[in-house]
Amino acid sequence: HREWHLLSRPVGRPEPGNFALVEAPLPTPGEGQVLVRNLYASVDPYMRGRMSAAKSYVAPFELGKVMQGGAVGEVVASRAEGIAVGDHVLHFFGWREYAAVDAAHAVKVDPRAAPLSAYLGVLGMTGLTAYAGLLRTAALKAGDAVFVSGAAGAVGSQVGQIARLKGASRVVGSAGSAEKVKLLVEEYKFDAAFNYKDGPVGEQLRAAAPDGIDVYFDNVGGDHLEAAIGSLNRDGRVAVCGMISVYNDTEPAPGPRNLARLIQTRGRIEGFLVGDHYDLQPQFVAEVGPWVASGALKYRETVVEGIDNHLEAFLGVLRGDNTGKMIVKL
Ligand code: NDP
Repeated sequence: HREWHLLSRPVGRPEPGNFALVEAPLPTPGEGQVLVRNLYASVDPYMRGRMSAAKSYVAPFELGKVMQGGAVGEVVASRAEGIAVGDHVLHFFGWREYAAVDAAHAVKVDPRAAPLSAYLGVLGMTGLTAYAGLLRTAALKAGDAVFVSGAAGAVGSQVGQIARLKGASRVVGSAGSAEKVKLLVEEYKFDAAFNYKDGPVGEQLRAAAPDGIDVYFDNVGGDHLEAAIGSLNRDGRVAVCGMISVYNDTEPAPGPRNLARLIQTRGRIEGFLVGDHYDLQPQFVAEVGPWVASGALKYRETVVEGIDNHLEAFLGVLRGDNTGKMIVKL
């Protein structure tokens, strides 16, 4: 059994030397626990935050210890009521081949209802993030013009499509390559999309949304947030989901220079955490599940194979190697 440890805290962009893949004894399940062989593991931008010592909404990863993250696996031994050998479970002990998990912290998932990896992405945490942030925090209503950054990623691709399915008047996305921009327009049916590396975000956004935007779903921060404020219409809403453009910064990034526009637009900026919105999970699955099944909402995954490549998959998310949810197949 192998597991990934954090050896030292990255300064700036994480380097392979900050981590090690370590041989460890096979975990033994205690009373009330199950032993899970992990089949799929999630790598997510927020993990960068847990590699730093700074206090946040989740504790930092401990040095010299195995890291954590979402994972789906098969139960190979059970000392818990209600979960049997052969069941599949979603849990929070990724970055390792096997995990001993409290039954109370394992959620049974059905591999016949959806591919197992979907429980980490389109029907899982990132899907709920898109759903809750767009519908609750940004309070999307039919007729809104919506802009989402990181639009070819796991959260962003779902935000744009949910907006369209909910009657947005215009859906605009930004992403970091020509192929991603093409995917947004051709496959996900965004009305317009641009590559933020092609020129100033503000100019490209004004061209893509000439009548302004009512909702901005922020995955990126920095110049994207400033551009969105610049294009915000009266009573516009900004849902701050993430700011991946600053996660590797060693100094705090300057704030948007045009915050005063919020006064004239009566605009509202609000951050949110998916963890506060799990009450929406049943509604999310009931509404989005059928869209996924019918193909009305499409999704991609970038699948990296093998525990050896787990770290590389994470580093790839920070570089934009992924289209849709980045998944590690163990
Ligand atoms: P993604 O699948 O979107 O992967 C991250 C993407 O970010 C990359 O593919 C890359 O795409 C883009 N990116 C990387 N660096 C930059 C940069 N400097 N500028 C612009 N884009 C960049 O990840 P997720 O969908 O999992 O997460 C999206 C966002 O949502 C993140 O900010 C994350 O922290 C946040 N999040 C917040 C949650 C919450 O509860 N608030 C829950 C889950 C996620 P590209 O090629 O386009 O650059």
